[in-house]
Amino acid sequence: MKPALSPEILLQATGRLTQNTPFSSHRFRSLLFSERMNSVQYRGRLAPSPTGYLHIGHARTFWIAQQRAEAARGNLVLRNDDIDAVRAKMSFTEAMLEDMRWLGLRWQEGPDCGGPFGPYEQSQRRALYEAAFKKLQTGGWLYPCRCSRKDVLRALQAPHDADEGPIYPGTCRPNPASPGLSDKKDPCSKTKLNWRFRVPDGESIEFVDGCFGRQQFVAGRDFGDFVVWRHDDVPSYQLSVVVDDAAMQITEVVRGADLLLSTARQLLLYRAFGFSPPAFYHCPLVTDEAGVRLAKRHDSLSLRTMRLQGITPEMARERMSREWSSAQCGIK
Ligand SMILES: [Zn+2]
Repeated sequence: MKPALSPEILLQATGRLTQNTPFSSHRFRSLLFSERMNSVQYRGRLAPSPTGYLHIGHARTFWIAQQRAEAARGNLVLRNDDIDAVRAKMSFTEAMLEDMRWLGLRWQEGPDCGGPFGPYEQSQRRALYEAAFKKLQTGGWLYPCRCSRKDVLRALQAPHDADEGPIYPGTCRPNPASPGLSDKKDPCSKTKLNWRFRVPDGESIEFVDGCFGRQQFVAGRDFGDFVVWRHDDVPSYQLSVVVDDAAMQITEVVRGADLLLSTARQLLLYRAFGFSPPAFYHCPLVTDEAGVRLAKRHDSLSLRTMRLQGITPEMARERMSREWSSAQCGIK
């Protein structure tokens, strides 16, 4: 039976929508490692974005996620992260599911087989993101930002990490003396504003990654105020995955190491919502022969191309386990 779609009901049904209670990094860690993994059934997720064909790097991450779920005798959820309507394509969704099944990936809940936490397409979950946005806005965590990407770059005039973009210099951040955080503009009003989450400058965000071990990032130094609702009226990756991972009661997030820093941002969102965070396991990235990280433009390494070349699922899995055993975090 499908649950009612009221966002508040769905969020409350997870049992995690509690009052905002500030808590320390120490509490983050204890939540990650004592309460969750022992008493709760393992729930992992595969969350591909249908913006291109899956490549061997995605496949390996999904394979690791499946192995971890199997080892814990847990469930695996397939979630279609198709929130970006401009880049997500229906044809890629179909190809993605087909290629994943071809490789031997299996899931117990998903857009194709249903489950108690649906819908499993982000494009069908907008009401949840809007409710979450309103909660952050009402709680005074957000402020509107009118800067373009170019403005941010100009204000910085400094090199930045190509993956993460520049650290926002706080141009639109309200003055603490007159916070003005209660601008009540609705995200649906299409006002061409980014809404940013104000990070606690100088606070150390720590977590223990299942693969990379202890991680520490400093808010305001390693990352700045980040966008939770985009000027084109789309919830950001950070907001949508936190809302969904919490609502779907995911206990461990397995994903690529390019998202380690995003985890620090997401832990701040978990805290602001009063959700307890899942455990995290980031997989070392697969690179091509030249040492360049794989991207969807690496057509030759897409599962689709490999299939067309006559590579069998067994051969693909063999290749993944070779890559996997050379991974840095000691998984066998
Ligand atoms: Zn701004």
